[in-house]
Formats: sequence, C-alpha cells, structure tokens
Amino acid sequence: MSDNEYAIQRLHAIRSRIAQAAKKAGREPAEITLVGAAKQQPAALAQKFVDAGLQDIGENYLQEGISKQQQVAGQALTWHYIGSIQSNKTASIAEYFTWVHSVDRLKIAKRLAAQSPTGSQLNILLQIDIDNEPSKGGAAVREVPTLCAAIAQLSGVRLRGFMVLPKLRRDHHAQREPFAQTRELMNSCNQQTGLEMDTLSMGMSGDLEAAILEGSTMVRIGTDLFGVRA
Ligand SMILES: *Cc1c(COP(=O)(O)O)cnc(C)c1O
Repeated sequence: MSDNEYAIQRLHAIRSRIAQAAKKAGREPAEITLVGAAKQQPAALAQKFVDAGLQDIGENYLQEGISKQQQVAGQALTWHYIGSIQSNKTASIAEYFTWVHSVDRLKIAKRLAAQSPTGSQLNILLQIDIDNEPSKGGAAVREVPTLCAAIAQLSGVRLRGFMVLPKLRRDHHAQREPFAQTRELMNSCNQQTGLEMDTLSMGMSGDLEAAILEGSTMVRIGTDLFGVRA
C-alpha cells in the first residue's frame, strides 16, 4: 500500500469511529475536531494525512513542531500545542500555535497572554490532573475554579476549556467517569465565572469512544491514526 492509500484508509477508519461514537451519544460528528497527535512521526507522513483531509495537527515538542510546520503545507491547517510547557518556551509557543491544550498554571497563562501576537487571542485549554497522577502534569482539580477565574482576567488568551489525560481503565463504563467529571467541572466553572468555555479536549486512541459519549469536542489521536511511533 502506498503512503497515500495508507493515510486515506487510516483517516477514514478514525472518522468512522468518531461518527459511530457521536451517533451513540446522539451528537453530530461535526461537533468533534480530530487532532492528529503527530509526535515522533515524520513530516512526510503527516503531509500524506493532510493531503487526505486532516486539518488539525498536535505537537508535543516545540522544535519538532516548528520544523514540521515548515515542512507540512495545507489549506486552513491548524496547529495545536499539546505537550508539557517550560516557561522559557512560551513566546515561541504563542507565535507558532493557534491552540495550546496543556496550560497547567497561572504563570504559563500570563506569559502566553503577554506574548501572543498583538490583535489575536490565543485559544488555551487548562490541562487538569483528573486522576491525581502528578507525573502527567495538569492542575489539581481543587485549584481549577480559582485558576479559571484568574485566567479569565487575562487579555491575549481566551480560555476555551479543559484537556485531560486520564489513565486507561479496563471497563468502558469506568472509562467514562473521568471524562464526565471533566465536563461537570467545566459546566460549574462556567456558572461560577461567567466564562463561556466550549471545548473539551478528551480522548486518545484507546478511549475516544468514552470521551465522545461524555461530551468531548476534540480528540487527540496518534497511534490509531498515524501508526506506532518510531
Ligand atoms: C501522544 C499523545 C496523544 C496521542 O496518543 P495515542 O494514544 O497515540 O493516540 C494524545 N494526547 C497527548 C497529550 C499526547 O502526548
């Protein structure tokens, strides 16, 4: 199979899974954005997926992400930063990316707000440590309402919602719980702060169905889209 055919098939297979899960949830597939998590995948392969119709690419590492942006071309391509953030990298992240999913503290949000290109509002998501696994990063659940209220005051960034990386559970019903908690937390923060957050970045290769059933609006798919990472 050529890389072109491979990309067309894999993209179609993921879009079908998204459509099926949406149908089961009584939702429109168009409500869910597919973000291709392209870390450790070659730019040439990412290009095949863009040629096949992929419009959103997520990157975890700044240098790799910038170099891929220079090599991959497509109309209306949107780049998402989904990796952990060191504060000395925020200026470049604000310059090169349209969405940042992995904001986990106020200091990072303030730097991105100050450094985002003038006249534009960077879309940011607060990463939440929903399963209390600090090694994965993310703000502690108890800090979330205060953080939302503080980030809401910043111009230069627009807090659009939350991102989570829950652990894999054995059972499909159990897998829905952390996603349901994240949705409920977003709703309650919206009520408390007057924010109108509308984005839940939830779901990867192994748990996208559970995430969509609980309201995900962005799934970040690596392995089941591009293949196993190098
Ligand atoms: C790698 C990665 C993904 C994709 O994971 P897969 O299991 O390969 O689909 C999604 N989100 C983040 C933050 C990642 O680092």
